Amino acid sequence: MTGDLLLEPREVPLGGVRGLTVHRTLPHRALPTVGAWCFVDHFGPTREPMTVLPHPHTGLQTVTWPFAGEIRHRDNLGSDVVLRPGELNLMTSGDGVSHSEVSVGGQVMMHGLQLWLALPGGSRTGPAAFEHLPDLPRTGGDGWRAMVLVGTLGDTESPATTYSPIVGAELTIGAGASADVPLQPEFEHAVLAVDGTVRVDGFDLTHRQMRYLAPARDTVQLQAARDTTVVLIGGAPFDESLVMWWNFIGRSHEDIVHAREDWEQAAERFGQVKGHDGQVIPAPPLPRVRLRPRRRRV
Ligand code: MN
Repeated sequence: MTGDLLLEPREVPLGGVRGLTVHRTLPHRALPTVGAWCFVDHFGPTREPMTVLPHPHTGLQTVTWPFAGEIRHRDNLGSDVVLRPGELNLMTSGDGVSHSEVSVGGQVMMHGLQLWLALPGGSRTGPAAFEHLPDLPRTGGDGWRAMVLVGTLGDTESPATTYSPIVGAELTIGAGASADVPLQPEFEHAVLAVDGTVRVDGFDLTHRQMRYLAPARDTVQLQAARDTTVVLIGGAPFDESLVMWWNFIGRSHEDIVHAREDWEQAAERFGQVKGHDGQVIPAPPLPRVRLRPRRRRV
C-alpha cells in the first residue's frame, strides 16, 4: 500500500566496556517514529554476555522483551529484578531515571528487544517509575496467537502503563498459515521479523527487517512457512518533534545539554544505581552542531 516502507537494520555497538552489538531499525533516516515508538534495538541471538552499566534516560519509556536469556535490571528507584522470556520490563523515565542491565548466567543464549516509547506532553517531565509484568494478556485468531505487551490489540489490553494510543505485541504465525491480524485504522504500524522469514501483505520480510505500514488499514496479512515470531508495534502518529541524542529525548538542544550536564555532575535528577561500586557509562561528547528534531520523510 502507498506509504509502506522496508526498514533495514543497521549494526550499532552499545556503550560500555562489554556492551553488545545490536541491530537497530528505528529511528530510521526516513522515519523517526511509529506512533510513539522511537527506538527499536534487536539483540542476539548471541552468547556474548550483556553488561550495560548504569546510564540515564529522559523523556521516554524503555520496553525490554527477551526471547531467550535472563537480564538483571537495577535502577535508581531501588528496583532489582531478573527479567525472563515471556515477561516485560517497562521503565518510565519521566524527567530522569538511571538503570543497569546485565545478563545472568555467563555464556548463555541471549535474544531480545529493547524498544523506547517517547513520552508526550507533560508526562515527559513527570516522575520515574518501573513495572515488571510477568503475566501478559493473550489473544489470537485463525493461524496466529499473540501476547499483548503494551496498549491494545483487537479488544485485548495490556495492564502496562502507557501515555499515548499504542500497541506492542508478540505474534506467532503458525506453519503454513495465512493470518489476518486486526489493526486500528487511525494507527500506523510496523512488523519486525525476529526469528525467520514472514510475508507481510505479500512482501517477504527476513530476519531483523521491519516493514512500516501506513495508517488507514484495519488488518494485515501475515504468512509463514513454519511457526514464526514477529513483533507488531503501532500507535497514533506522534505529532511532537523529538530531539534524540544518546539516551535522552527532549524537545530542544538545550534539553539535551542540561540532561547531559546533570548526568556528568551526578545530579539528584538521575539518582544512583546500587551494586556497581559507582561505575557508570559516561556521556559521550556533544556534537559540535546544534541538535535538531528528526524529520519524517515518508
Ligand atoms: Mn537504558
